[in-house]
Amino acid sequence: MIGLLPFLAPVYAVIIAVVAYFGIRVLVGRRKRQIKKDVGEGICAVCGSRIIQNKCPNCDETKPV
Ligand SMILES: [Zn+2]
Repeated sequence: MIGLLPFLAPVYAVIIAVVAYFGIRVLVGRRKRQIKKDVGEGICAVCGSRIIQNKCPNCDETKPV
């Protein structure tokens, strides 16, 4: 067993890295979806005013999206 440890250590490191990578990806994706769901058509990302029919009353005139 002890003889295998130097070979197993990099494998564990890779597994941990892969798990962490996908874990972060899943968390970020979920959070993005949640923010999109919450903010979606609610608040302008630029000025923070309410979005009405996918348009910001403040920014729509000067900067059409
Ligand atoms: Zn705006």
